[in-house]
Amino acid sequence: MPDVSCTVNTCKYWEQNNLCSASHIVIQTDEGGGFSPDASISSLAETPASSKDETCCQTFKNQRG
Ligand code: SF4
Repeated sequence: MPDVSCTVNTCKYWEQNNLCSASHIVIQTDEGGGFSPDASISSLAETPASSKDETCCQTFKNQRG
């Protein structure tokens, strides 16, 4: 699997430097994605979420359970 960059730092699969450690992810469209797909990941702020409904990624798992 390619490296997946992600700013949702409240996910149990999130790792330092905005990397995803999940072995499989499911992504859906997001009409209001908020930034250009060409944006540099290092220039993006972390974007905590409480539930998968707040992300584009259906694999999100809150690290608090
Ligand atoms: S939200 Fe999705 S892409 Fe981001 S770290 Fe979690 S599983 Fe990976």
